[in-house]
Amino acid sequence: MAAVQITGLAGDRREVAAETLDGFASALEGSLLYPDSEGFAEATSLWNGMIKKRPSVVVRPGSTEDVLRTVNFARDNELELSIRGGGHNIAGLALSDGGITLDMSPMKSVQVDVDARLVRVGAGCTLGDVDRATQEQGRAATLGFVSATGVAGLTLGGGFGYLTRRFGWTIDDLEEAEIVTADGGVRRASRTASDDLFWALRGGGGNFGVVTEFVYRLHDVGPQITAGVIAWPASEADAVLELYRTIAESAPRELTLVAIRRNAPPAPWLPEAAHGTPIIQIVACHSGSLEQATADLAPIKSHGEPLADMIQVRDYVAQQALLDATQPKGMHYYWKSEFLPGLSDELFETYNAQFVGLKAPANQIVLFQVSGALNERAEDDGAMGNREAAFACVIQSMWGPDTGADVANREWVRTAWQALKSYSTGGNYVNFQTEDETDERTKESYRGNFGRLAEIKTKYDPTNLFRVNRNIRP
Ligand SMILES: Cc1cc2nc3c(=O)[nH]c(=O)nc-3n(C[C@H](O)[C@H](O)[C@H](O)COP(=O)(O)OP(=O)(O)OC[C@H]3O[C@@H](n4cnc5c(N)ncnc54)[C@H](O)[C@@H]3O)c2cc1C
Repeated sequence: MAAVQITGLAGDRREVAAETLDGFASALEGSLLYPDSEGFAEATSLWNGMIKKRPSVVVRPGSTEDVLRTVNFARDNELELSIRGGGHNIAGLALSDGGITLDMSPMKSVQVDVDARLVRVGAGCTLGDVDRATQEQGRAATLGFVSATGVAGLTLGGGFGYLTRRFGWTIDDLEEAEIVTADGGVRRASRTASDDLFWALRGGGGNFGVVTEFVYRLHDVGPQITAGVIAWPASEADAVLELYRTIAESAPRELTLVAIRRNAPPAPWLPEAAHGTPIIQIVACHSGSLEQATADLAPIKSHGEPLADMIQVRDYVAQQALLDATQPKGMHYYWKSEFLPGLSDELFETYNAQFVGLKAPANQIVLFQVSGALNERAEDDGAMGNREAAFACVIQSMWGPDTGADVANREWVRTAWQALKSYSTGGNYVNFQTEDETDERTKESYRGNFGRLAEIKTKYDPTNLFRVNRNIRP
């Protein structure tokens, strides 16, 4: 084999001798993949089909020692290194273009410690891997709502989902992490060991090293809950948004409500005559008793004449995958997000105005309720901050890879975002940032915690080895 050109830390192209790569590969318990190796395509596939990047080589680690070998190899040879968890980051941060990608997907162990109410999770797991294992014990940690998402990227950016109202951001359930840092150290970070590093990992992304294992606190949830989606024609939008606000304000934390306006997808649960017409939906997830859920959900289920009502008793695991089919891998995606302190009449007016004459069938704006436990912690309890958020507003566009619609769809998102931005807390979710967002926007997502993050970055990664991320420069 000839020498391989690999992107260097300075953005240059470096020639790495075949013998050097062979020596590195022979020490691995896992494998080193080249573009013509079996498994390379899978290891470099991304959820967002709009991102075109290809690493020169991929490491699939068999152990923490392999991760350590890879970090040392990249640092010593000054090569760009990226870390791939579930490959779901919308900005494509899993891959280094022309560099080395460490694909963590082989590290998929999940161990539930029933007595300690903890789960130990390998960094290659998806949310579904974790939920399925913990639900065998009727337990759950707070994770997101599309099951193929990587647990690593979601957690390191903060994380939220249907249980956030009860238990906080995902990082509020995080108890410990094993991490390989740029100096070649393997550390277990927690509130009592390397506590500065642990603080930074709770929202600071992949800036501080490669996490190999996460330990989460578990709560009693499920296995059955009351949840699903209900939809009305958009002519009901004003009344449904009003109902949404009223119930969201008074609902117990067991109930999380998500409002979504869009054009109806051609989904079997919706009547065919409604397909393509403007609708408003509420996705509900109630993790309390059936009796409590029935009472709390009654005003929603009895409102007007829904096109379809799929809110029912179902497995928590099924609810966690309910939206999977709405976000297929390989389509083109573009999003913007803001955290909101509440919902005003003016915000609803602005929200509804974005849908006048909307042609794109899959464009939607999601209002995701997060208020509750997270608001009770201090702003600097973990790097994620954003403790005054009551809702996450996500403006989303999805379109077919070959429709030539990139410009029009991105423009719709940007215009809607400009209109809705003035209702924001001033914070946005770092995990929803796209490829074209600026450093300033990353700074905004951490707000007052940014300075401390930069200090901790300087301590643990002074040469910015971990830079394929929403980068916090040392
Ligand atoms: C369809 C969809 C639904 C989503 N739903 C939610 C949701 O409900 N709640 C929510 O909070 N977020 C949600 N997200 C956002 C999600 O949290 C981010 O996209 C996240 O980056 C995905 O993690 P990943 O491991 O799949 O990412 P990847 O693309 O694999 O990696 C993203 C970044 O994470 C870092 N990283 C990954 N693994 C490691 C590791 N082991 N050590 C250090 N750094 C690492 C890397 O720096 C990389 O830059 C959703 C995203 C999608 C696409």
